[in-house]
Amino acid sequence: SSSLLPQDQALVDGVLARERRALAKTITLIESTRAEHQERARAVIAALLPQSGRSIRVGISGSPGAGKSTFIEALGTFLIDAGHRLAVLAVDPSSTISGGSILGDKTRMESLCQREEAFIRPSPSAGSLGGVAERTREAILVCEAAGFDVIIVETVGVGQSETTVAGMVDAFVLLQLPNAGDELQAIKKGIVEIADLVVINKADIDPRAAAIARSQMQMAMMMLRPASHHWRPPVLTISALKKEGIAAFWDEIDRYQATLLAAGEFEARRRRQSLDWMWAQIDSGLRQRFRAHPAVRASLESLSVAVASGRTTPSSAAKILLDHLQSR
Ligand code: GDP
Repeated sequence: SSSLLPQDQALVDGVLARERRALAKTITLIESTRAEHQERARAVIAALLPQSGRSIRVGISGSPGAGKSTFIEALGTFLIDAGHRLAVLAVDPSSTISGGSILGDKTRMESLCQREEAFIRPSPSAGSLGGVAERTREAILVCEAAGFDVIIVETVGVGQSETTVAGMVDAFVLLQLPNAGDELQAIKKGIVEIADLVVINKADIDPRAAAIARSQMQMAMMMLRPASHHWRPPVLTISALKKEGIAAFWDEIDRYQATLLAAGEFEARRRRQSLDWMWAQIDSGLRQRFRAHPAVRASLESLSVAVASGRTTPSSAAKILLDHLQSR
């Protein structure tokens, strides 16, 4: 393994001493796409890894306007008052697709931003969803090493971002609006299946409508096979704006964690996620090397044309290209 440069040892020490500047600089290093920075980042993360893991990682997703930032602000304030320290990270693929970010602008979560016990970091904006996810996963570890015991990963319903975030957290929360349209969207996109908790927000506007939305969502979820034998995802109603239902929500997170810990599923999920992450990196690394291989580069274009025009079968073209990897 690589050894630490003096300035990187200073980063490690700073993170462990819970210095915000060191934490922010470390995450900036992680987010850099320069090869030498990535090498340094790997060494820093490796040094911090033994001090990571002691947190509950909660993913929160919902369509734009569902109330994610209002909810996180209310939840964060509640958690800090209860003695926790929380980090809020974001996975926003729209920043890579459109250049404009739906999440993570600085005017959000204003009161939380001012708390010493909170660390808020917008989504990395460089690269694909996979790249953004990889950097967020590493940022989770660094925040844990800096003593944050609650990690919130926020995402918006764009593309595959919900599944990606569910793959890096212990509990995945779906924040819903109390209307049938939002519910249908979530069911259609298959997000309800991966939710460990469903929260219907804005219950203050029309409590009756929220109660109906809740029972409809509960019914829809009964028809799905639960991800765990030990946990049936509950559906709660809250008002993030009026800060109602926040404590009850956190009670459910506590109950969820206790239930999964007792069943051995909590650690099993993390182990599975780590292995999935390793394989995702291997897959993308292999793809990169494949595309960079001289013999592949020399024949990829013509073979692609041959496959597209039906002169060569996809499988024989794939075999020819993959065989190039064996030759040097
Ligand atoms: P996000 O896009 O999911 O982060 O949503 P925001 O937190 O920015 O909220 C969108 C809008 O809904 C804002 O105008 C909020 O003030 C409002 N809002 C959020 N939560 C509630 C709630 O519980 N009740 C009501 N009435 N409005 C809310």
